[in-house]
Amino acid sequence: MATRKSPWGSISDLFGQLVGPAPLCPDCGAPNNGYTAVNLGGASPQHGDIAVCAHCAAPVQYYGKPLALKRLEGDDLILARTDPLFRFAEEMVRALMRSTRT
Ligand SMILES: [Zn+2]
Repeated sequence: MATRKSPWGSISDLFGQLVGPAPLCPDCGAPNNGYTAVNLGGASPQHGDIAVCAHCAAPVQYYGKPLALKRLEGDDLILARTDPLFRFAEEMVRALMRSTRT
């Protein structure tokens, strides 16, 4: 029986680990070396991609090589928050933070 490939890629494409030094969050300083692609696109982070810190939910943007993180501010932050997937990512991390708070 032939298997049909998902148009969204495989589940292993959605989660990953960055190669090289972990980019540090500019807000909390925590390393962010793992990623989850909320758009189901299966692409690992690239220069210019926006993200949410997995530790403090700060809106951030990847830049440089090796990848580093900077704060997402001003018009870039306003534009990011017009994207339902970005708002979903922020809420997902905040919910995770609340659920693990002791
Ligand atoms: Zn952070």
